[in-house]
Amino acid sequence: MEYDLLENREFEDWLVKLRREFHRYPEPGWLEYRTTVRIIEELEQIGIPVIWGRDLYAADCRLGLPEPEEDRAAVRRAIEETKREDLIAGMAGGFTGVMAVIEGKQTGPAVGIRVDIDSNELEESEAPEHRPAREGFASVHRGNMHGCGHDGHAAIGLGAARILCANREKLGGTVYLFFQSAEEGGRGAQAVVKKGLLSNLDYFYGGHIGINQAPFGTISASTYGFMAGTKFDVEFYGRASHAGKAPEEGANAIAAAAGAVLNLLAISRSGKGISRVNVGKIQGGSGRNVIPDYTLLKAETRGGSPEVSAYMFERAMSVCRGAAQMYGCDMNCRIMGESRNAECDGEMVRFVERSAAELREIKEIIPASDMGAGENITFMMNEVSRQGGQATFMLLGADIKAPHHSSTFDFDERVIPLAARLFAKLALDLKSEKRK
Ligand SMILES: [Zn+2]
Ligand SMILES: [Zn+2]
Repeated sequence: MEYDLLENREFEDWLVKLRREFHRYPEPGWLEYRTTVRIIEELEQIGIPVIWGRDLYAADCRLGLPEPEEDRAAVRRAIEETKREDLIAGMAGGFTGVMAVIEGKQTGPAVGIRVDIDSNELEESEAPEHRPAREGFASVHRGNMHGCGHDGHAAIGLGAARILCANREKLGGTVYLFFQSAEEGGRGAQAVVKKGLLSNLDYFYGGHIGINQAPFGTISASTYGFMAGTKFDVEFYGRASHAGKAPEEGANAIAAAAGAVLNLLAISRSGKGISRVNVGKIQGGSGRNVIPDYTLLKAETRGGSPEVSAYMFERAMSVCRGAAQMYGCDMNCRIMGESRNAECDGEMVRFVERSAAELREIKEIIPASDMGAGENITFMMNEVSRQGGQATFMLLGADIKAPHHSSTFDFDERVIPLAARLFAKLALDLKSEKRK
């Protein structure tokens, strides 16, 4: 393996610069226009063919798309920032993300790698203790922030692409490196799976920065404890009327929603595994003296197994239906995102352990760590396994400054070149693995 070529300052500086650029311009799921343009530009610069836009998705399977006005505003902003209307026109309407296709010069397996690129709806801290604020790369997109490390993941993907491209002579088979939109909220992976882009993969992997609190130099070769879950919006439709003169003619949508909230949080625990339920947002009503005719709840349920996840969601639906009926309202539920349980493949995990051990910056390899959360990649992992391929999801140790999804989240950037090398090395080493 030739790493010397890329174990240099120029490579590392390039990756950190990219991460900081992505960090400065965060874009939430399905709106990663600027980010996608920059990734395409860098891949083209390296000389790697790309698949993007409508070619990536089964359009109708994209979950939780933003409202059209929000999409148009994001498109306008990205065109202003990049001057690449030529590219953005082909992505408008939530067709962000890109897949790099790196063909090796030798025969070998089809390998899929996933990195995610979306940001979080968070206001980034301006405190001087927060390095992005102090060093001038904090978000310039108000209300959005890379609070989960996906800015680092995007850079890792580009780093791996560059190493693989430089090592094409030794690379066996083809690597499909997917920069995924809308991981947050469990929205992007399903539509790629449905498009069939992962249907012939022999091996598949991805990773996440910092989840298991391990220090830099530690990696976890696999992850367990992916929670399955459903993100959903419930709309209660009531009837407006005069709150003084004729309240009896109205149907109070806030009352229905309030009844739903209390009872959602009171769903009985399951004896069959861990469960979660949350209502994270409530919005409704028009004025003090009007019986409210509309209320929106944003909620989610989760479970440690498919059975518990289904139980939680079914219970949630009957609570919402019951609450609507109690107050004479109608209700409507829209699924906004989903995640699944998944298992990493044991053989693939052992391969990762062997291959990763040869990277000198890696000091410790943990066979498996608890995820304790959902990950949209599970749809892809399950698809690859279903087709007889092997998949794993790794955790990439990095000292983090604050919890994920918080306004002061930041991580040790040394993990970026390390993970780029790891991702590339795995793909190169898979050439000599025997298929099942
Ligand atoms: Zn996240
Ligand atoms: Zn994440």
